[in-house]
Amino acid sequence: MALSGLDIYKLLPKTNCRECGFATCLAFAMQLAKKAVSIDKCPYLTKEAKAILEASSLPPVKLISLGTGELKLDVGNETVMFRHEEKFHNPCGIGFIIEDNLPDTEIKEKLEKINKLKFERVGQKLDVNLVAIKQKGESKRFAEVVKLVLNNTALAIVLMSDNTEALRDALKISSERKPLVYAANKDNIAKIASVIKEFKVPLAVIAADLETLSNLTKELNSAGITDLVLDTGPKPISDKIWDLTQARKQALKKNNRSLGYPMLVVVDKKDPFEEAQEAATYISKYAGIILIKGIESWEALSLLTLRQNIYTDPQKPLQIEPKLYPIGQVTDKSPVLITTNFSLTYFTVLGEVEASKVPSYIVSVDTEGMSVLTAWAAEKFTPEKITESLDKFQVKKAVSHNNLIIPGYVAVLSGDLEERSGCKVVVGPKEAAGLPSFLKNL
Ligand code: SF4
Repeated sequence: MALSGLDIYKLLPKTNCRECGFATCLAFAMQLAKKAVSIDKCPYLTKEAKAILEASSLPPVKLISLGTGELKLDVGNETVMFRHEEKFHNPCGIGFIIEDNLPDTEIKEKLEKINKLKFERVGQKLDVNLVAIKQKGESKRFAEVVKLVLNNTALAIVLMSDNTEALRDALKISSERKPLVYAANKDNIAKIASVIKEFKVPLAVIAADLETLSNLTKELNSAGITDLVLDTGPKPISDKIWDLTQARKQALKKNNRSLGYPMLVVVDKKDPFEEAQEAATYISKYAGIILIKGIESWEALSLLTLRQNIYTDPQKPLQIEPKLYPIGQVTDKSPVLITTNFSLTYFTVLGEVEASKVPSYIVSVDTEGMSVLTAWAAEKFTPEKITESLDKFQVKKAVSHNNLIIPGYVAVLSGDLEERSGCKVVVGPKEAAGLPSFLKNL
């Protein structure tokens, strides 16, 4: 947990000797709190003070990396309970469980489908992250399926087994891909710890309650194993939310390092709708990794969309580049629509223009990422701004007519805009959904 300047000051020698380059210990403490200087600048810190200050500078939820290369997954490093306090840093990983008792052809088909779960939404790429291989049969089969998965996907992998020999064999062929081993529990912890020390890969730890989990992570830490992910096992949703929330709270508010790791949740539901609903709940409430079985694209897209929304920085609206966008085979007679550069607004308008099959220009005005009404209320979507954009993007050179279509919600701008721009302003529909019929009847 980050310390305030005054908390840090209490740990300093308070001699104001100036050797750190600051006039007083208090000034040094304030800079330390802002992370503007290093604690090494003060040569008189006690061992205890140094340990506390070093611990406070670590993220409360440890960053854990799985996989390698472009598809490496980073989870953890979270610093707040609520996204509006700052932002959530690393989107939770979404993975799919494949059991090793399935025939190879079925596993390959599943992997092919999983590899295709890539989407684009409001200009961002949305990808799934993990394949988890669950041992159901013999160790030899587990290793075979791990090999099959490694050869058929570049996604990060999870090895799900409590058999240390099976894990060792699987790790011999997969450790370079930095898989997550799932899972150590109070009965197998010593054996699994020796495998993890040998292969140096991240480990999931499972226990039904947070106290036991905390004791297990302390035991692993003292054995030098610190790349951990935590799970409290199968439970009703309300209990699970309680665990996820309490673990985050303990790490952030109580500085409890033994619970300062990303949490993993396995959702095991036969009904894919129930599975999607439950997974969505955990995306919203602090899961670092979610493993599901459903590989249908509707389910993945809905979870990835929710994840995108939760993990977007609330202080920075998604924006697109303000410019003149030609949509379809435009000519100098194509209509010109005016909108803002808020991604969601632009892509909604774009989708409807494309659906209309009427080639059109869209002028995206720089409103600092605000939507139409917000930008209008904040005076970022004004006749002056729109006229400036028309000049900057040379709209009058692109078309031979003089007409502009503005969103119905800002019809009030039309008179002033006509005067300033010298264009004829047509008020379009209030909702983008009205654009196809509006454009066809223009
Ligand atoms: S070097 Fe340490 S003791 Fe001296 S002024 Fe700076 S913080 Fe205080």
